[in-house]
Amino acid sequence: MRNILTAIAITALTVSPALSQTAAPISRVDVLAAERALAGPEMRGRGSGTTDEARAADWVAAQFKAAGLQPAPGMASYLQAAPIVRRTATGVPTLTVDGTAIGGVGILTTDGGTLGGKAVVVNAIGDGVPVADVLVYTGPADGLSQVRRAARGKVKLIVTAESDTTRRYLAATGGKPQLRTTLEGGGAWSGVALATLPADALAKIKPGDTVSLDVPFAAQKGVTTNAIAYLPGTDPTAGVILLSAHLDHLGVRPDGVMMPGANDDASGTVAVIELTRTFATMGPAKRGILFVAYGSEELGGLGSTWFGQHPPIALDRIVANIELEMIGAQDAKLPKGSLMMTGAERSDLFQMLKANGALVARDPYPDQHFFERSDNYSLALKGIVAHTLSGWVGPTYHQPTDTVENLDIDYMTAAINSLVAPIRKLADGGFTPRWTADGRPSAGR
Ligand SMILES: [Zn+2]
Repeated sequence: MRNILTAIAITALTVSPALSQTAAPISRVDVLAAERALAGPEMRGRGSGTTDEARAADWVAAQFKAAGLQPAPGMASYLQAAPIVRRTATGVPTLTVDGTAIGGVGILTTDGGTLGGKAVVVNAIGDGVPVADVLVYTGPADGLSQVRRAARGKVKLIVTAESDTTRRYLAATGGKPQLRTTLEGGGAWSGVALATLPADALAKIKPGDTVSLDVPFAAQKGVTTNAIAYLPGTDPTAGVILLSAHLDHLGVRPDGVMMPGANDDASGTVAVIELTRTFATMGPAKRGILFVAYGSEELGGLGSTWFGQHPPIALDRIVANIELEMIGAQDAKLPKGSLMMTGAERSDLFQMLKANGALVARDPYPDQHFFERSDNYSLALKGIVAHTLSGWVGPTYHQPTDTVENLDIDYMTAAINSLVAPIRKLADGGFTPRWTADGRPSAGR
């Protein structure tokens, strides 16, 4: 929690008109306190869509309120609840070929239920994957990820031979199919189910055989929560800036170990909170600023997808989105003190932020597809210039060691402070970011 002396100082600043363009720097004490609250034991790792996540959202909302921000237009509170459906496998999965059950099936990906159809057998994908209900892939195991990518939108189910990799994965999940949690009414699944069989059983499937996979499951309704606050601008026609992070993490593992998620993404959420406090003291700019901490990013961007479907401010009024994700420590490949900006070459926002003092650098890991792996992406697909600023994806990533002690609070504090002037300039309205010629993403790119 914020210490009381700082809270009083901030309250005093808000009534001082002389300070309308500048604000006291964000302090490491406040950053550390907010980190300890979000990544501490009371929040139990903020598991996506759990009551722990709801408690974290309540806490973030309380910080928004204390900063003096309003709920977003049309919202009665700072919380936006999204209905989700959690699926759990309930029985023994079966795979049949022309009606005969085949033993030894392993399920790597599915939404549960029954799917299948006529088999198309391939051992290499060559020019691409044919449209098929069931693709039986008999080629080498190291070609499987390429086949899966190519099969998106064309194939319902891939069946392939088990390998060391698939056996390891199944062992780590206790052999129980891990079914997705989705938004309620989120539409049909567009993913590709993946099942394995022992190599000799796979070899017996012939082209045109009818393959059917059945994974019995139970569905349970739940809720994930976004925390949202708004700082209105003076010109309603000038657009709005969206600053976002995700407040959820991996919760408590089945073996009882808590996953603190201090870097992922308590750090980004802390940045959003500190920026609300700072911008609230600076007084209104021409553009409004919307501050959002999403729920259930870890389940596939459920909170941000819901937000994109139910935005409190029309999406065409949002001129830019900056997502803050894992900014708690410095990546060794980046210039000292810098955050990486994913997809920097896709728009002119990177140059603008850098020119105005933001400690940002280009993403040195384009192969990792970070641009597509964070909450900015669902909004970028809708046309909004949306990027993620990120610090470090190190060995603590999705480990119990992602603790406050393993963060570099000085780096983090300096990085957040460096964003104040450029974001304020963006809010002042003279610059509207644009995608570069072929920078705007379409699904899968
Ligand atoms: Zn994560």
